Amino acid sequence: MIRVIIRTGVLLIFCGIQFFSYAKEGMWIPTLLQAVEGDMQAMGMHLSAEDIYSINEGSLKDAIVDFNGGCTAEMVSAEGLLLTNHHCGYGQIAFHSTVESDYLTDGFWAMTRADELPNSNLVATFIDRIVDVSEAIANADDPAITKAELVAAATDGNGLEGKVIAFDFGNSHYLITTKTYRDVRLVGAPPSAVGKFGGDTDNWVWPRHTGDFSMFRIYADAENEPADYSADNVPYRPKHHLPVDIGGVKEGDFTMVFGFPGRTEQYLTSDAVKYVVETLNPARIDMRDASLAVVNSARAQSAALRIAYADKQSSIANAWKKWIGQNSGLTELDAIGKKLELEAAFMERAAENGDVNAMQLIAQMQDANAERQPYMLARSLFIEWLFYGPDVLNYAWSFAALIENWESLAAAGELDGTIEALKSSTSDHFRQYDAVVDEALMAALVDPYLNHVGAEFVPEAMKDATGDPEIWAEKLYEKSIFDNQIEIESLLAKASQKSFAKLEKDPVFRLIKSLRSTYFEKVAAGYGSSSLRLDSLTGQYTKGLRMLFPERAFFPDANSTLRLTYGKVEGSAPYDGMNYLPFTTAKGVLQKYVPGDPDFDLPLDLVEALRAEEWGAYANSEGELPVCFTGSNHTTGGNSGSPTIDGDGHLVGINFDRSWESTMSDILFDGSRCRNIMVDIRYVLWITDVYAGAGHLVEEMDLVR
Ligand code: ASP
Repeated sequence: MIRVIIRTGVLLIFCGIQFFSYAKEGMWIPTLLQAVEGDMQAMGMHLSAEDIYSINEGSLKDAIVDFNGGCTAEMVSAEGLLLTNHHCGYGQIAFHSTVESDYLTDGFWAMTRADELPNSNLVATFIDRIVDVSEAIANADDPAITKAELVAAATDGNGLEGKVIAFDFGNSHYLITTKTYRDVRLVGAPPSAVGKFGGDTDNWVWPRHTGDFSMFRIYADAENEPADYSADNVPYRPKHHLPVDIGGVKEGDFTMVFGFPGRTEQYLTSDAVKYVVETLNPARIDMRDASLAVVNSARAQSAALRIAYADKQSSIANAWKKWIGQNSGLTELDAIGKKLELEAAFMERAAENGDVNAMQLIAQMQDANAERQPYMLARSLFIEWLFYGPDVLNYAWSFAALIENWESLAAAGELDGTIEALKSSTSDHFRQYDAVVDEALMAALVDPYLNHVGAEFVPEAMKDATGDPEIWAEKLYEKSIFDNQIEIESLLAKASQKSFAKLEKDPVFRLIKSLRSTYFEKVAAGYGSSSLRLDSLTGQYTKGLRMLFPERAFFPDANSTLRLTYGKVEGSAPYDGMNYLPFTTAKGVLQKYVPGDPDFDLPLDLVEALRAEEWGAYANSEGELPVCFTGSNHTTGGNSGSPTIDGDGHLVGINFDRSWESTMSDILFDGSRCRNIMVDIRYVLWITDVYAGAGHLVEEMDLVR
């Protein structure tokens, strides 16, 4: 008989299975860890809250990096070396790849500092301080002015940046000061057969055998301060870097994941969840089914297209698969029913308390949702066009200032700078662009878009696409200049006002202009005002939940700020008759190996190395090489690349995914099913040191056991 540990664990009964989980829902603000310090220590942490976040001393938080606003990374050496996911560095790895030097296929390892590859548009941000300013904002006559004053006072002359960020739908506010480094160079990446092993088939799935890691180095000026790329820059010296534990972890060990979770939506009401499941996700999935069909088939045609469209394919496929899983999970768990139950209980307690305002809240939120949903859908579909659709659209729009505002640019002395910037973005853009693929993408998105978007939001310039999208797209590209690098370059070289002015009539420019003006005129304002209304009601709802259910913990939704989540190394039993073990090993990589399969092929030297089983110091106590493990840490997108830290503050893994049965956790977390997936640090080190022969990078780290 298993002992029921109520204080730190929960007994979960699902499909008749009894499963003990230490899952702790919640992404904690690092300045508020005192509240859970005791619990964390009871679960195996040997540190104090102050060791994790300190304003006076270097602490764990100083090793945590916001990697380009969308992923997390961690410092692992005194000389600026950082670890993140392969999928977080994928854009940079793909950008540096060519058919001749194919780092996606072969991997990349800088054997000297001089080999490290600079990246434009890649930044690494550290948190300086997180200060609760809720009272000042609540008492402010004009919150916008108070926010600006707080930021100015905290950042004046010290090289920091700052922002006041609303948490919990405006119930609290924090001033967060940061320092952003702009010279971040690619140091190492395994072949995609390691870093993306399993491809879309294994993405969001356990058991997993992916070595999802890459390495970068932050460079700074001689004073250790941020600087633009320069050959004179030197490796950044972090206030703290994580010791790396080659002893790793085992089942039941305490773990915490420290990073920048992007977005959770735990407080959606039942009607909003229904809308996500029945309307929003199907629309987005349809759009991506269409774009993936185009991109996947293009990538199969040639090495050049495989490389050019690698990054785009990954970014389309990742959320596409998540939304599919999310819909199944929400349905299987009866999320709508569970939300309805909570809403009924809320109403009951509100009535018992005679809280008339609270009693009206759910109906008001439903009303606000109904107002917001058509805008939200139109906005999501606009995002699909602009960020996951044909690349020609945003590219054409980058010329808008030259086309429409030549004179004001000239008057401001900004003409040359704008033209120079476009010359360099043009060569970057066409490196990962193919006009035929782009045109096919344009045609493919028309039908799913028109099937889902409200008729009132269809841009004028798209109205004639309805008959035959392929012919429509063909005409656009035939008459546009924006898909032609040579013509664009000669235009930029001539730099004449007249020739740019003519582009006002370019059909692609007209299309993007029409898409944008429809969005800004018909969607943005309605979306903004209905979101404000909904946020304010949801803020009252979360306050009400905390007041009416004092026995339960309601954590603030993720908002891309630094959070800590903790749990244990553990497996799960998501379905009847199924039990997931928490570890995978190198054996499994070979078991999945299918020569020639795009998702499961392996380089022959890796097959040999795996078969040789020479794990050295990286073996576990059974003499095996651990590859990935799962834990009950509550994570989401943005936590990709986050360090998994053991009870002593040592790095034991890198978070990179969640299991299929967890994909709904952004909306409904379920401790029995939700597991985050991490690559074991021992696999990272073995690949780097033994397989790739880049032991000098491992030597830079502080290894402990
Ligand atoms: N693999 C995920 C992502 O890329 C990480 C997560 O959501 O758990 O967003």
